[in-house]
Amino acid sequence: MNDSLNAEILKLKQEKNAVILAHNYQLPEVQEIADFLGDSLELAKKASTVDAEIIVLCGVDFMAETAAILNPDKKVLLPSLDAKCPMAAQLKAEEIVKAKEEHSKAKVVLYVNTSADCKALADACCTSANAPKIVEAMDSEEVIFGPDKNLGWFVNQRSSKKIIDIPASGYCYAHRKIMGEEIIEQKNKHPDALVLAHPECNPEVQELANRIESTSGMLRVAKEESANEFIIATEKEMLHRLKKENPTKKFYAASENAVCGAMKKINSENVLEALKEEKNEVKISKETTALAKKAIESMLEI
Ligand code: SF4
Repeated sequence: MNDSLNAEILKLKQEKNAVILAHNYQLPEVQEIADFLGDSLELAKKASTVDAEIIVLCGVDFMAETAAILNPDKKVLLPSLDAKCPMAAQLKAEEIVKAKEEHSKAKVVLYVNTSADCKALADACCTSANAPKIVEAMDSEEVIFGPDKNLGWFVNQRSSKKIIDIPASGYCYAHRKIMGEEIIEQKNKHPDALVLAHPECNPEVQELANRIESTSGMLRVAKEESANEFIIATEKEMLHRLKKENPTKKFYAASENAVCGAMKKINSENVLEALKEEKNEVKISKETTALAKKAIESMLEI
């Protein structure tokens, strides 16, 4: 860790009344300088209540857009413009319009991992922590759901609604790399460990898990459960926070391959640069902001 760089970030933060929000998958050096760490839902909630003039969002593009939508009067900065979620890029607004034409009575629930343009077409957003609850709250029998088919599968197991996936097979490439055989191998090595899997994992991995949780759920379970060992099936950096907050417990990555390159584009250097120059401000049109805000607020209300 670079102490002088971190001291400079702290000084600038105070001078500019800025706050740093970081996702649980960020590099440890970024997690260490964050004022608040969380999953997408926690970051969205925090962004809507934070008292600051500048929000530095350390995550990926859709998270910074969500913060900007909820805070049109604040400056939201994304330290690296290369931090783009490949899964969010799989869903285009035209595809939602087409699905709505084909299923005119269906409501649209979109994972927050989508662009602002897509959110503007949704009835509600959801996160991995609340997806079944949001889908169930829709007053339609069919629900158009995207872009993650694995999360759609997870919702389908827990909902009475008919799920229509858009795109037909959207996925998170980091979670898709976790294989069922790897879980079995880790279970053989650590027979007393509980398996916690993210709902973006393949169904075969979810079926092998003791619990399916968002990253905030994993942190809660790790604290509350009496188990001392856990196999974690999500992006690898999650282990940093789990270990830090539970120093007496043991955590094993389900797969060494579950790494999201987009989440590693931000580092302390580009956080400092973004703060210093107030660069990479996220800008969204007023019309899109108003429509997308409604979908995010529907989720927060439910
Ligand atoms: S972990 Fe998956 S969903 Fe999250 S930013 Fe990376 S590609 Fe997107």
